[in-house]
Amino acid sequence: MHTPLLLDGRLLVREIEADLTKRVRRIVETTGITPTLATILVGDDPASVTYVKMKGNACARIGMNSRKVELPASVCTEDVLRVIEDLNASPDVYGILLQHPVPAQIDEQWCFNTIALDKDVDGVNTASFGAMAMRLPAFVSATPLGILTLLRRFGIRIAGCEAVVVGRSPILGKPVAMLLLNADATVTICHSKTENLPEIVRRADIVVAAVGRARFIQADWIREGAVLVDAGYNPGNVGDIDLENATAKSSAYTPVPGGVGPVTIAMLMTQTVQSAERRAGLC
Ligand code: NAP
Repeated sequence: MHTPLLLDGRLLVREIEADLTKRVRRIVETTGITPTLATILVGDDPASVTYVKMKGNACARIGMNSRKVELPASVCTEDVLRVIEDLNASPDVYGILLQHPVPAQIDEQWCFNTIALDKDVDGVNTASFGAMAMRLPAFVSATPLGILTLLRRFGIRIAGCEAVVVGRSPILGKPVAMLLLNADATVTICHSKTENLPEIVRRADIVVAAVGRARFIQADWIREGAVLVDAGYNPGNVGDIDLENATAKSSAYTPVPGGVGPVTIAMLMTQTVQSAERRAGLC
């Protein structure tokens, strides 16, 4: 019996952070400035609080500063826009992250689109997405970039493969599909209105699950030898694929936890360091 390859996000993060630590040191030595990632948290959703804390911890591990802006859940869109505009104008801030999701009364995409493009290190501005889709230089949505980085690090062939992405959200499904297309995969995007989903998933050499429903993708939908990328993160530490039963059929898979999740944060750090290097004229 073959052993499927573990696409180990934690291992990749250690490699990335070792590199970023050196690059941050070089920025500080050259400019005398320690780059800062600003995070904006609206409300106190426990998962979001944890994610923002994890991002602050990652900054500390690589020698970067983080600045946390916390707003009550009752704020309106204009309040968030004002904070973003202040951060856009702050010279020590190199990256801005607005933690998703925000409370329903806030126009999230308007807020995302107000983040200055050179500080949009989470790749959420519509203009960043457009540039990425056109293969122009841009910061890329962190989870999709993490997925492509994982596939490349572990030598997964993408060009010419059939990739099926289940989910079409602006921060995950759509941009990962576009990145796979840019990497010359033949891409199908599925969503809640897709008919015959199991049959479509059965065609896939690479399955990307971005649904937000625990163990939604079943083992008998998986073609023998497929690569499984599970971006889902649901209560109880389970993903969107029934990994327990599906991995035996796969040639490679991302675990949950320890796959896509940690790499997402490492991509946010990478793009913040790139932003600082650009401003310092180091790249
Ligand atoms: P989302 O905005 O809720 O989008 C879910 C997508 O799944 C939608 O496009 C929806 O289709 C589709 N969908 C729902 N039910 C379906 C069904 N029965 N059949 C086929 N498609 C269906 O979620 P998201 O923000 O993209 O997140 C998806 C998952 O990834 C969640 O588990 C989330 O926790 C996880 N996530 C992880 C990270 C990370 O860092 N690891 C980052 C972001 C998200 P419609 O468009 O038709 O509604």
